Amino acid sequence: MKIKTNRAVIVQCRLSSTRLPGKALKELGGKPVLAWVLSAMKKVNADYYYLATDQASYEQLLPVCRQYGFECFAGPLDDVLARFTMLLDTIKVKTVIRATADNPFLFYEAAEESAALFEEKNKGNNKCHYLTYSGLPHGSGVEVFSAEALKEAAGQTEDPYDHEHVGPALYNHKDRFNCEFIPAPRRYNFPELRTTIDTYSDFLRAFSIVNYLKSKGYEEPFTTEQIIEACRSNSVKYPAVLVPSVVKGHGTGHLRRSLSAALEGGFFVYIPDDKSLAETDSILQEYFSQGLSKNQIINSIPDQTYLPAIITDTFELTENQLFELSKNRSFVSIDEGSRFTDYCDYLLDIIPSYKCQRPANKSDSAFITMPQNVRQATEKNAENKIEKVLICLGGEDPANLTIPAAKAFMQKFPQAKITAIVSNEESPYVDYAGGANIEFIKPVSGLREKLYEYDIVVTHYGLTAFEAVYAGCGVILLPTTKLHKKLAEKYNFAFIGDKALSSSSLDSALSSENLYARKFLENDLKDQKKSLSEFLRQLASGKRMCCPVCGSFPDKPDPVISRNESRTYRRCAKCGMLYMAFSTIEDKKYQKAYFFEDYKKQYGKTYEEDFEAIKAQGLRRVSIIKSLAGLRGESLLDIGCAYGPFLSAAADKGINVFGTDIADDAVAYVQNKLKLPAVTSAFPEIDTAEEFGIAQFDIVTMWYVIEHFKDLGSVLRKVASLVKKGGIFAFSTPSGEGISAKSDKDHFFQISPTDHYTIWEPGRADAILRPFGFKVEKIVSTGHHPERFPEIKKSGAKPGSLKWKLTDALSRAKKLGDTVEIYCKKI
Ligand SMILES: [Zn+2]
Repeated sequence: MKIKTNRAVIVQCRLSSTRLPGKALKELGGKPVLAWVLSAMKKVNADYYYLATDQASYEQLLPVCRQYGFECFAGPLDDVLARFTMLLDTIKVKTVIRATADNPFLFYEAAEESAALFEEKNKGNNKCHYLTYSGLPHGSGVEVFSAEALKEAAGQTEDPYDHEHVGPALYNHKDRFNCEFIPAPRRYNFPELRTTIDTYSDFLRAFSIVNYLKSKGYEEPFTTEQIIEACRSNSVKYPAVLVPSVVKGHGTGHLRRSLSAALEGGFFVYIPDDKSLAETDSILQEYFSQGLSKNQIINSIPDQTYLPAIITDTFELTENQLFELSKNRSFVSIDEGSRFTDYCDYLLDIIPSYKCQRPANKSDSAFITMPQNVRQATEKNAENKIEKVLICLGGEDPANLTIPAAKAFMQKFPQAKITAIVSNEESPYVDYAGGANIEFIKPVSGLREKLYEYDIVVTHYGLTAFEAVYAGCGVILLPTTKLHKKLAEKYNFAFIGDKALSSSSLDSALSSENLYARKFLENDLKDQKKSLSEFLRQLASGKRMCCPVCGSFPDKPDPVISRNESRTYRRCAKCGMLYMAFSTIEDKKYQKAYFFEDYKKQYGKTYEEDFEAIKAQGLRRVSIIKSLAGLRGESLLDIGCAYGPFLSAAADKGINVFGTDIADDAVAYVQNKLKLPAVTSAFPEIDTAEEFGIAQFDIVTMWYVIEHFKDLGSVLRKVASLVKKGGIFAFSTPSGEGISAKSDKDHFFQISPTDHYTIWEPGRADAILRPFGFKVEKIVSTGHHPERFPEIKKSGAKPGSLKWKLTDALSRAKKLGDTVEIYCKKI
């Protein structure tokens, strides 16, 4: 016999939600939202399980209640308080555990615990009328209250707000009721997370959570730990919406590629209502049958509350489309042919493109999904063996080449069976249907795995061409445009050019050494296969950044200076700064390990071992500063002082030095070993007046620190406030005008550390610093490396040789060092 708990679980639900109508019955991962709520709450111990709804919703909700072991109670629509008290009049319980139907990810363990805590508090003479855990994710919590107290409260309040809700009747009247908001135990305490479903965007987040949990094979109802894991997973944190072309004339390849990636990676796919690609619905059905969820197909893009990255696969976007789609969010484009690609945070080229002048972040045809069915090598005497020909010129065949191609092949190979894919089996094809050995068929699902059956595939430049090559077929392209012809040439395809399709032009294509182009792709085939969905998942978590100096996003994107696999760099149109504008790499945390491990990795010795050499540099810098400032009794603040070699040098020269660094252990070293004043701070968050008793300094320095600030504008403002008028601000940083940057710009950006957010060009430093009140007084080019000059690389000249010495002299004379020191005066 079940022990009486004296508890009732009551889930409150209505179907007339204004923001997301009918959300309780909306299908989420295979069952209604409400079903998730009920199955979670059923885990909480109680005598009664009720759904409290209104008359209008009752009939629709009843079947779900029955299925999950809940009773259904109908009461007033708006006076929810009355709905609860009416229900409570029909049952005899002490404690009510209340949940709402828009929260599919309730923490049932927390619900059980808080109910037990509530009962504990009511033992003896104490009275607790209402209790809830605070700090749970928004949408995972429940309320626990006394049935008796609620009835009493309902009789005492006329306030409409109290009647529209339930809890407020108690907790807004704390003079009469004892209500406790208890900080949830740590394992439930995640106030930054959101799991409720209030808006459409929330619903998409909920789908991502379910999709993640299912992909992990977790059993329902999900535990707190599992839900938290999902909320923190990249696939939930960084949603992505794929935007394929569904425009007539662009073929079906874009849509299929997006749907495949969505199926594999759990992305959303945006299909607008005004799509004109006729095959869209049948292709969607095909992917639904493979397991794609209908929830993944969306016709509006989620808003700020669940901002996705946008990934387009659309052939060629207009400037206006680029502008709209790239607003406020990470924006990635696949095989984008537009002239306006500066709007794109990231460009991924998969099908080799002739538009190579437009650099991509990554070009990799290994993302083409390879057919698994491949022909065995029987390439010799190919001509005699041609028995099956596939003509596949896109469902729409805008240039009407299908019939001429079929005719040419029928003449050439009267015995061969010719199959042509057309979207429309009506005229003009009907005249040919049934004649000779030709067959017209509709677009085939899973064509990729059927290509190997054909000896020859006739198609346009595009995905099918590459797939057919990989499948080992002979491939002949029919270029429709000049661009396609150039591409066919560039990528070693046999093709029939702009001449008419004739038996002679067909002959020359058939005799081309490129007919079986698979051999040219052997390199690509080696590292097969790369997962597009995994790569897109990584891109979706990428961060877009604005100019660190100006701190705001411009209306028109700043021009792109360099793209590489993990980053995109731009030049700010306003201030001229070169900056990292997009990165897929997680932020580095400066910890002790930086000095002990990374430093050693980079320089082959520990920072401490390098101390004296760095200190010698410091002595040189101090004398430059002294020569510029002509100050007496100077005070100096070194920001990012690390283990203090520069502080030590300046102190040796009689300067009153102070240091600050983000790393505790470095600051401790300065304090204890060097006996110099230093504090830990994350600049610009430091109050020097409080820490050192000094509001302004004669000298402020930053050695290889300035490039690490994402918020450089506020850093420079803070520095300006810390330097006395006429005082010196000096810093060193990698140079964007050194030999490495000048001789191979893209390589320079590629090897630029991923935590360098700005690249300083000495020639532009004055213009960038002036608005902050600094005037550049002296620029010293440092880091001279003859071995990085193309002439030395080419000739292999050794250190000490004349060529080497001359190059070194040139580097110094032309200020081509890879690092730079900039000394400026506060004006
Ligand atoms: Zn700027």
